Amino acid sequence: MAVVFLKKDEDHRIRNGHHWVFSNEIEKIEGSAENGDVVEVKDHIGRPLGNGFYNNHSLISIRLLNSNYSGNINLYIKECIKNAYSLRKTFYPLRTSFRMIYSDSDYLSGLIVDKYNDTYVLQVYSQGMHKNIGEVVTVLKEEFGAKNILSMNDLYFRNLEGLPETNENYLGNAAEEIIDDGKIKYKIDFTKSQKTGFYFDQCDNREFIERIAKGKTVIDAFCYNGGFGLHAAYAVASSVTFVDSSESAIASVKENINLNQITAECELVKKDVFDYLEECLSINKKYDVVIVDPPAFAKVKKNLRQGIKGYVKLNHLALSIISNDGFLVSSSCSHHLSEEEFLIAVNKASIKAGRQIQLIHLNGASLDHPSLPAMNETSYLKFAVFKVL
Ligand code: SAH
Repeated sequence: MAVVFLKKDEDHRIRNGHHWVFSNEIEKIEGSAENGDVVEVKDHIGRPLGNGFYNNHSLISIRLLNSNYSGNINLYIKECIKNAYSLRKTFYPLRTSFRMIYSDSDYLSGLIVDKYNDTYVLQVYSQGMHKNIGEVVTVLKEEFGAKNILSMNDLYFRNLEGLPETNENYLGNAAEEIIDDGKIKYKIDFTKSQKTGFYFDQCDNREFIERIAKGKTVIDAFCYNGGFGLHAAYAVASSVTFVDSSESAIASVKENINLNQITAECELVKKDVFDYLEECLSINKKYDVVIVDPPAFAKVKKNLRQGIKGYVKLNHLALSIISNDGFLVSSSCSHHLSEEEFLIAVNKASIKAGRQIQLIHLNGASLDHPSLPAMNETSYLKFAVFKVL
């Protein structure tokens, strides 16, 4: 096995629990390694730091495995998958759909697996996982009885790693699944869905909505297939307005309303959220609960300032149409925006809107998205509920 030596003082982050070695931190490589091979990592005087997947194409040159690695990568992958599954089952014993593998957080850097009953949707973003994907497929098939396995990759991330910009069908022929988060059913159409089909990261937060929705008029803005609004309807909101600019998102909300036999009054609006909120403001239409769960406004670090402006504008508009004693439910999935910066942005919006806010609840992603304290790359979601005076 090739050995990669780090430069002097470049071992601290790794010793502290971070799992990536960047290309500029490498002093030399002894032996030869192909992209995707497991290499040994040592500090500048040869003290061992661990093992990891090598990739000379990426800025992230090594993605470390955890300390259970004993030299057999197939065994390692199988154990990691089983451990990740059993962790999900601890918290969601009755659910059959969840994020089953979350990359570095489950010690399989560059592999995401979302489980939809017997359909497993993968995202493969490292040479190491790409090289070993056969073993992943075997484990899912043999240990978990997978019927369909496919990948739905964000090709931008594949490109960064020097991976072919393709999606694969590894097993079966998945078209759709009806999944259940415990209370609400969703029809997932894999031929026209976003990301892997469903945003599992907000599952726990959608349940929180039930505690404030009863008898309330609710907007689910950036609704996608309607998760927040459907939970509000389940908790007997008086009305739910779903807003999304995507035609297929609105069509899937409609299907999910029928699927769940929702009786609350529902309105479906295919429109830009900013435009819709402006319209409400101009006719003085108020809502008791406004939920805003936008796509990342700051996808890359250099857009952070612009992104923050977006969050301030959105939350300002949302706060301006919330009735007295209502609730603002605000999210950000921009990894580059810290929780502190997010709260500062919402606070700024409240000052602009002339509304006082109390923070009632602050959360991150659901329990099927663990994070590593030493790697802030593994946590990105902010979810905050405010009471609005
Ligand atoms: N709240 C959803 C996830 C939202 S994902 C859930 O719980 O699953 C973001 C959604 O915002 C996508 O469906 C996308 O179509 C929509 N979107 C992005 N920009 C928009 C805009 N300016 N106006 C309305 N919808 C938008």
